[in-house]
Order: sequence, then structure tokens, then C-alpha cells
Amino acid sequence: MIRKLVILALLSAACFISGGMLLSQHQDETLYPTPSLTKRMMLSDYFSVLRGGDGDTEVFEYCGDEGGGTVLILGGTHCDEPASYLAAYLLIETLDVQRGRVLIVPRANRSALTHNLQGEGHPQTFEVETLHGKRSFRMGSRYTNPLNQWPDPEVYLHSPSKQELSGSDSRNLNRCYPGRADGTYTERVAHALAELIKQEKVDLVIDLHEASPEYPVINAIVAHERAMDCAAFAVMELQGQGLEYSLEPSPQNYHGLSHRELGDHTNALATLMESANASQGRLRGRTDAQLVVTGRDKMYTRAAEIEMTRVPFGLEGIPLDIRVARHIEGTRQLVLAFNGLNAGKEVEFGGAPTYAEIVERGFGKFMHEEN
Ligand SMILES: [Zn+2]
Repeated sequence: MIRKLVILALLSAACFISGGMLLSQHQDETLYPTPSLTKRMMLSDYFSVLRGGDGDTEVFEYCGDEGGGTVLILGGTHCDEPASYLAAYLLIETLDVQRGRVLIVPRANRSALTHNLQGEGHPQTFEVETLHGKRSFRMGSRYTNPLNQWPDPEVYLHSPSKQELSGSDSRNLNRCYPGRADGTYTERVAHALAELIKQEKVDLVIDLHEASPEYPVINAIVAHERAMDCAAFAVMELQGQGLEYSLEPSPQNYHGLSHRELGDHTNALATLMESANASQGRLRGRTDAQLVVTGRDKMYTRAAEIEMTRVPFGLEGIPLDIRVARHIEGTRQLVLAFNGLNAGKEVEFGGAPTYAEIVERGFGKFMHEEN
């Protein structure tokens, strides 16, 4: 009898602890916006159906004193690509906009940050050094949490193109644009983001991503044909700084992606950026929080030696600092290129650290955590 009671007590404790851990995954990590923040909104302000659910996510608005254009930065479309949402967090905590408007959605698919990808062995969290000690960040998934959308179809039919994609891509936000108001959970999030772009008259969209070091579209800016001039000028400038970037045209017959559908279905110039993330790759070795932060992996160094990667990958790896720095510098150059091509719609901002500053000190040292 006593043994049964002990087992029951242990089981109850395990349920209590794991339940608490599960619930904590649904609470947003605290961000500390700069005083330059003008409005803190929710995505449901643009599509009320999302209100109160995991798909509802914060929208940060920074307005300059002078009028100009509007730039939208999306982080966390895929939440196993940490440089994407950390670059957005860093902008939120450093930005000072002088002209025009910058809108930031740091957790575009917030549901994807509430769970991990099955079978990948990813850590649930990782730590970054800041001026106030270590700060913990969550690692998420490429896909919407099955708690929000389940089951996957055998074949996912993209709307409105009718293109056939794998079933799991029905939970991939970057295969669901332009979205549907009466569609699946992920399609509704995509629809809400497209609504935000239309209602706020966004001029330029920058969707931040990461990819495996062996993926062909890497260290790249992908651009819709209307955004090609802007992206080309940005890539030339980045290459001039010695940063390896390629320019990739958005394929016209591959549907669901932000750079294709947001360019086709809204007036915005649609771009997407990729950096190289070893913790996402198929060739990686040991997978832990260290790999996420340091980006060092002996298997990838070996793979690069036999030319199986699309980026150089030395023993020093590709740390999160470099990946975040690339996204910040890429964003800066895209906005500068946009300004050069769109007189009267300029967006000017300061505050964000430079590429060299981030690489030298680490991006965590620029984050404005309150004590
Ligand atoms: Zn991605």
C-alpha cells in the first residue's frame, strides 16, 4: 500500500513538473523595447479571429518624427532558426527611428515557439551572455504546434495556387502565404500578416530565416521580381563590405513563400534573408545548446573540406553572433537600398549595432535587459 502511494506521489509530481514546463512554453519571453517604441500592438488587431490564441502575436511599431515609408521585419517564421527571431529581438531593444516607420513581428509563427521539432534532439532553451549575465532564449520548431493544428493531410494543397506540397508543410507558415481567412490555423496567421501589410501600407518586407549549411539558398537575399533592384543594390553593398551574399530570384512557380505571395498579393516589396545554421543541418554531429550558440561542429568542418557545404565552415564554425550580425547588416542595407530607389519614402534608423560591433562584442551585450 505504501509503495503504491509513493508511486502515485511520484507520478503526480512528474505530471505537475512537466505540466508546468509545458505551460511555460506558451508564455512569451520578456522583451525590453527602446523608448523609441511608439505602439505595441497584436496581430489580431488586423484579423480579430486570432485574438487570444497562440497565433496572436506582438507587433512593435517604431515611428520617426519625419514621415516616410514603412518597413516590416518578420522574425520567427521558423522558430528552429534562432538568428531570425534574435535579430528581431535585438532591433526591438536597440532601435531609434528618425524617419518613416519600422514594424517588427519577432514571433511571426508564435505557435512554433511553443514546441520543438520531434526527433531532432534540439535543446528547449539556450543561453546568451548579456551585460546583466546570462539570458535564456527558447528554441522552437519549423512548424506550428500540432496542439494548434492537427492532423496533417497526406498532401497539402496550397491556396489559391492548388500546388501540392508535403502534408507537414500545411503547418509551415512560409508555405501558407497569402493565407486564408477561413483556412487552417497557419493559413489564418499568414492571412493576418498579409492584412497587416495591406492595412499599414507596408512598402518593404524583410523575412528573416536560417538554413542548413548544405542548403543551396544560403547567405542569400531572395527577392520578388519587384524587389529585385532593391535587393541587388543591398547585395552589392554587402559584398563590398566583404560579406558573402548571393542574390536569388523568387521562383514564380513555387507557391506559398513570403517572397512570392506577399509580392504577388500585396503592394509591398518582398524579400527574405538566409544565414547558415548548423543546428538545423542534416550533417551535424552532437546537438545541444552549445551548437546553437557557437555554431561549431566538427562534422560540418569535415563536410566543408570535402565540398559538401554551400558556405565555408572552418573549425570556428558560424556562431549565432555572426548570423545575427548578418541579419542586422542585411536589414540595414536593404533599407538603405530602398531609400535610394524611393525618394520621399525613406526610412532612417539608428541605434542598431554594426556588423563589426556585434561580431566583436556579441549581440547579447547590446540587448537592453532591465534589472
Ligand atoms: Zn526558414
